[in-house]
Amino acid sequence: MKLTQIRNATLKVEYAGKTFLIDPMLSEKGGFPGFPGTLNSHVANPTVELPLPLSEILAVDAVIVTHTHQDHWDDTAKKVIPKDMLIFTQNSRDAWDIQMSWFRNTRALEERNEFEGITLIKTPGQHGRGEILEGLMGDILGNVCGLVFKHPLEKTLYIAGDTVWYEGVKQNLTQYKPDVIVLNSGDARVLPNEAIIMGQNDVRDVYHAAPAATIIASHMEAVNHATLSRKNLRAFLGEQGMTSRVLVPEDGESYNF
Ligand SMILES: [Zn+2]
Repeated sequence: MKLTQIRNATLKVEYAGKTFLIDPMLSEKGGFPGFPGTLNSHVANPTVELPLPLSEILAVDAVIVTHTHQDHWDDTAKKVIPKDMLIFTQNSRDAWDIQMSWFRNTRALEERNEFEGITLIKTPGQHGRGEILEGLMGDILGNVCGLVFKHPLEKTLYIAGDTVWYEGVKQNLTQYKPDVIVLNSGDARVLPNEAIIMGQNDVRDVYHAAPAATIIASHMEAVNHATLSRKNLRAFLGEQGMTSRVLVPEDGESYNF
C-alpha cells in the first residue's frame, strides 16, 4: 500500500490496486470560516494550502467520507469531485446529505463491505469525551466512523478517523490487529478546552496498545482548532522513545508499506 498525507484528514490510499481519497477538504487556504465554538475560531480554514494539484488528488477510484464535518467534506470537494464518483459514507443519512449535492453514486457502508476484492470495515469512533457529547455540541459532533482495509496481499490498515482514545479504539486494535494505523492527532479542541480528536497522550496509548504497528499522525496543522503542532508531537515522541514506530508526515509526503 501507499499512503499519501494530503492535508488535514485528507489522505490518498493506494491499496490492492485501487486508489481511495479519504475525507476530502479541498478548499484553498482560508476558504471558509473557523468553526464556531472551537479554539481560535477567528482563524479561517484551512490554515494551509493543498500540497498537490487537484488533478492529482482527484485521480482515484472512490472517495470515502468518514463524516460530513466541513474539514472532511467541504464545499470545494462538492464542487470539484465528479458527480458520478463512487462515494462511501458512514450511513444512509450522510449518503442522503451527499446526494443533496447531486452526487449519484453513493454507497452507505455496512459494518463489513467488499469492494474489488478489498474488505472495508466500518469501525466506531468517539469524537470527544464526557459532557461535550451531550446536548447541542453532541449533536454537532454526532456520529463518526473509522475504517479498516484488508486484503490477502496487503498489510491491514486502520484509519481511526475523528476519535479520541477510548474503549472502542482499543477493541478495534484487538479485533483487527492492524499493521499500519492512521491517527487524527492534531488535538483539536472545542470550547472551553475539550479535545475532540487525539493528542499526544492518545497517540501514546495507541502506541502501547498496538506494539507491532506503525502509526501515522494525520489531521495536523490545517484547521483553526488544532492545538498540537508536528514539532511538539515530534518532541514528545523523542522524549518517550516512540520515534521508530510513529511517523509525522508533512503535507504531500507518502509512505509505502
Ligand atoms: Zn476533523
